[in-house]
Amino acid sequence: MPKVGAHVSASVSLELAFQRAKQINADCFQIFISPPQQWLKTRHPEDEVSAFLKAQKESGISPNFIHGTYLINLGTQNKEHLKKSIDWLIYALNLAKDLEMQGVIFHLGSHKGVGFEAIKEQVIKSLGLILKEVRGDGERGAPSSARSAVRTSDGAADRQDPKRFKQPQLILETSAGAGGNLGGNFRELGEILKQVDNPRLKICLDTQHVFASGYDVKSVLGLKDVLEEFEQEIGLENLAVIHANDSKVEYRSNRDRHENIGEGFIGKEGFSNLINHPKLKDIPFILEVPGFAGNGPDLENVQLLKSLVDK
Ligand SMILES: [Zn+2]
Repeated sequence: MPKVGAHVSASVSLELAFQRAKQINADCFQIFISPPQQWLKTRHPEDEVSAFLKAQKESGISPNFIHGTYLINLGTQNKEHLKKSIDWLIYALNLAKDLEMQGVIFHLGSHKGVGFEAIKEQVIKSLGLILKEVRGDGERGAPSSARSAVRTSDGAADRQDPKRFKQPQLILETSAGAGGNLGGNFRELGEILKQVDNPRLKICLDTQHVFASGYDVKSVLGLKDVLEEFEQEIGLENLAVIHANDSKVEYRSNRDRHENIGEGFIGKEGFSNLINHPKLKDIPFILEVPGFAGNGPDLENVQLLKSLVDK
């Protein structure tokens, strides 16, 4: 059975995310590490990082993810904006490594009308640069852990437990494909992955976004085709995580509008097909739904999705 997690708040102190996840029965989570509409690089002191690592180990809540700021745009024509985007992603990926999280999920941004081909090289070069700047442990050219932003864990424990993440992934999220937004189709994402050629570059499939951009993840036959196309263009081994959101808007509407599980156009039947698909059984499902009380992912949505798993 796939893990079902949710976007939770990490405000005040990062380790509080574990309590908040526990309250809604989430098996894993995604957090913001600084306000999502700003370029702020919040500094998280060493004791906060240690508290997070301790809670992660004790709770078993894992794998966890950082969601990037919404300002990132690797397709921008503005050099300063591009530099800010790259710098922020390096900051986030370093923190993901220190926190032993699986990686950083983010939206590539928009080509603003100039077309994918025109900005493709820039996107590929930027991603390559970020992954080179923040290497996984044991990768060629990786800095010794003494030079890592925060020194925390003991190497011996890492070697014993391969599940502990010291190979932070940069995870591109699929988009709803609205006006110039990058990531709206598997072919472009696949091309980016092939060109960057780094095993730590992965994909986050958002069920609402792909549905809106014309991938039918709702029906059994539709989902079969979607996963076949994903396999062909990107490779299922590169699917790191699923954002499980129902859709407030219709198929092919190209709009990014999340809905609670079962309340939207994908519906309970669609999510039952998704969560029981054998090819997705090892992929974490993370909810980014509005919540039944309007306060974001809640216990009700988590339980609903878990209840759709075939017994
Ligand atoms: Zn999403």
